Amino acid sequence: MKPVLTRVLGSTFLALLLVYTLPVTSLATEPITTIGTGGINGVYYSTGGAIAKMFNKKRQEFGGWMANQATKGSVENIEIVADGTVDFGISQANFLYFAENGEGLYANQPKKDLRAVLGLYIEDLTLIAAVDAEINAPVDLKGKRVNIGAVGSSDEQTTGVVLEKLGMKPEDLTLLNYPTYSASEKLQSDDIDAYFYTVGHPNLSVMEATKGERKVHIVPFDQTFIDDLVASRAYLSASKIDTQYYDRLVDKGPISTIGIRAILFTRANMDEKTVYQVVKQVMDNFDLFRRQHPALADLIRMEVAENLIAPLHSGAERYFREVGLIQ
Ligand code: GLU
Repeated sequence: MKPVLTRVLGSTFLALLLVYTLPVTSLATEPITTIGTGGINGVYYSTGGAIAKMFNKKRQEFGGWMANQATKGSVENIEIVADGTVDFGISQANFLYFAENGEGLYANQPKKDLRAVLGLYIEDLTLIAAVDAEINAPVDLKGKRVNIGAVGSSDEQTTGVVLEKLGMKPEDLTLLNYPTYSASEKLQSDDIDAYFYTVGHPNLSVMEATKGERKVHIVPFDQTFIDDLVASRAYLSASKIDTQYYDRLVDKGPISTIGIRAILFTRANMDEKTVYQVVKQVMDNFDLFRRQHPALADLIRMEVAENLIAPLHSGAERYFREVGLIQ
């Protein structure tokens, strides 16, 4: 006969096992719908979580649940939605446009099967810098250690274009490819002087960057640079970074830059019913959805179906027609 303790522990273990494995087993066997997002300290990750939360309210009825997945952002999301690795993705409008029209990264290989689902919030081109590096305008980046995100990431692509517009060559600065999720840490450990991140505000990356010993500010872009870029593409807008949540940011106040919209997308052969359910769950719980993150707070119902760059997925179209958001 086993000692009492072993028997007690054994039965407790069995009970715990039953308690913990039942829901886990059912979760594991239910189909999972996935959303490719971004780094865990960006806003895509939280937004994917918020969309999943709305969907999962009806998990029993739908017989499946939704989960967000961390990725390298827009460029990776376009790749993994197109090849079927994930079901939905979030992308900056420009990358969706390039993919759709075979430009830039997608020259001669357009991804015509991508479909828009929902227009989200405005992201801002953000240049975060250590005050001691004395970068008061983007031109001061010359000779500095600047992180541009992982190789092949959206941030690397965007920064390439921005530096070119600023008239800077890659050899004018030291470019580093730490993944953007670790850039705030690298700024505090003095491994970099500044980093680029196109992201909604507030976000945990800037929060973390501003909480250390090294003083940090956000560098504004000048009006000519903004006007030139905005005139070149319909999906770009002049924007002001809202810094109210960054308590320890040096030089707080609205910061001038370029804005670009984040868009939820999928692929043409994605199940119509699932896309309809995702859109309906977000729209039926719109106020709750907007409370999931401050970057979502200003979303306007009327605008979610507008200027979506890629053709609308039939499931989203069905919902928007039903509620009169499109004709
Ligand atoms: N805009 C970034 C990208 O496309 C992601 C920002 C975020 O994760 O919130 O990669």
